[in-house]
Amino acid sequence: MRISIYPLMILVVLTLAMTGDGRKYPTDDFISPVKHSLKLSGTFGELRSNHFHAGLDIKSEKGIAGDPVYAAYNGFVSRIKVEEYGYGNALYIEHPNGFTTLYAHLLHFSPEIEAYVKTQQYKQKSFEVNLYPDKGQFSFDQHEQIGNMGNTGSSGGAHLHFEIRHTEGQIPINPLLFGLPVADQKKPVIQQLMVYEFDASGNLLRTSVVTPRLQTNGNYILNQPLALSTEKIAFSLRTYDSQDGSTNQNGIYGLECKVDNEPSFAFVLDEISFETSRYINAHIDYEKKVEEGRYYHRCYPLEGNKLPIYFIGKEKGYIHINTDTTRHIDLAITDFMNNVSTLSFDIKRQLDFAPQLSDAPPCDMVAAPNEVNVLSKPGIQAVWTKGTFYEKTPVNLSVEKSDNLSTYSPYFTLSPAGVPVHYYYDINIEGLSVPKNLLDKAFIARCQKNEACVSVGGNWIGNNLHAEVRQMGTYTIMVDTIAPRITPIRFNEKMTGWQRMTFKISDNFEINDRGRDLLYKGYVDGEWILFSLDGKTGLLTHEFDEHIAPGEHRLMLKVIDDRGNEAVFEKSFTL
Ligand SMILES: [Zn+2]
Repeated sequence: MRISIYPLMILVVLTLAMTGDGRKYPTDDFISPVKHSLKLSGTFGELRSNHFHAGLDIKSEKGIAGDPVYAAYNGFVSRIKVEEYGYGNALYIEHPNGFTTLYAHLLHFSPEIEAYVKTQQYKQKSFEVNLYPDKGQFSFDQHEQIGNMGNTGSSGGAHLHFEIRHTEGQIPINPLLFGLPVADQKKPVIQQLMVYEFDASGNLLRTSVVTPRLQTNGNYILNQPLALSTEKIAFSLRTYDSQDGSTNQNGIYGLECKVDNEPSFAFVLDEISFETSRYINAHIDYEKKVEEGRYYHRCYPLEGNKLPIYFIGKEKGYIHINTDTTRHIDLAITDFMNNVSTLSFDIKRQLDFAPQLSDAPPCDMVAAPNEVNVLSKPGIQAVWTKGTFYEKTPVNLSVEKSDNLSTYSPYFTLSPAGVPVHYYYDINIEGLSVPKNLLDKAFIARCQKNEACVSVGGNWIGNNLHAEVRQMGTYTIMVDTIAPRITPIRFNEKMTGWQRMTFKISDNFEINDRGRDLLYKGYVDGEWILFSLDGKTGLLTHEFDEHIAPGEHRLMLKVIDDRGNEAVFEKSFTL
């Protein structure tokens, strides 16, 4: 008896130690939600666009949709969500142990849930629904099938997105903390080290990127010590991890930086709330992401970063160097199975290099993280709320006359493009040159170099068009008078024996930020019918069922864009 309890106790102690704050994650309650071996195409905390990944991405067995998905533990269905983007078809199960599991991008729910969802969709006359069934209305035992793996919503291939959350507060937790069996003997890979050099008052002077060399068994070194001309420096690191049997470059679990053997900065990715997930743009080097699409973990916290995941030492992750001493740096990267890779090197100060003077380039405004910031020029005003910027940020606003006939204001460029913006901010652009008859067709467009302009919507406040946006960039007023397009993909006047009809819908402007996506409404003989929209492909599908009896019918499909332009497809068919 003693012998069998002992390993369990070690496990509990380890788990407690790992979480740091005494919260306990049961390691025996949850089973894998799939029956084939657990292979991951995404890990918890992985660096994604504007968020940390909130769960595990579990691969399908053969790369195709349809694998059965099982309840990881017994519980009742607390929520069902159907979305065109995002999670697609998602099921939430609340368990008696205080945790909730979430299964997303499902192809189908189990038959009784499918039927319930369809009833609710007809009741609400909407494909997208967000349902909270009564406790006990739908329950699952552990191992019972809850649906099938799919590719619905914003998913780039058949997989299961699986989350475990605290039921209270719905805070996502690293599912691997619950003892799920993922084989991983591979050490993380360290790709690049970025070095930041600051002047005495903390202004960034320059950055440089070094590629470490793998020496042996996960130990990386630099070819030579770093010789730097400034007194204050910091690092960021580009790194990934893979699990056994998978080549996917997934996220790491933790990072630690030691300076002269003293911990100076560390984080572990155990829990990240949805409220704080966007601070990823402070966690990473956002400029590198914008410019190169690469994600570097900063090894020091920016002032406005409110993520509660960090250990921060005396020097706050910065390293101070002087001419007398060499400082020794040890970076350690861990994956969840405690495979560790290290990068060790020395840094010293070299006065041979002339230290660059910190002549800050002129700018229109230095935005402060904890203040409301306002920037205006004739024809435009931008207002950022407190906490929008993560550090003291020079911001520029340039005005360029547009000779493009489809614009109704100058081009206003808020820069640099590589500045992360935490909250939506207001822009107001004067629209005096918009013709009266086109006022309701005018919108604010964001036009990036070499990309088609996207619509961020907009509403009139007096003579100004107002929109809420979430990135820097070039903004102008445009108008949209063109109706969306409806293309029949599977439709015929005789569809007897067919299982479905499909259309593709598209529009001339992509929608972003607070703009509204295409609205669509399908009617057969004047009665609303369900069309499901796959947001990523624009495919609109109706599955024939008891709602349309055999015989002759008339279909009307209406699609309406953000500015009220409407397309109608109307035709008779027999089924
Ligand atoms: Zn995912």
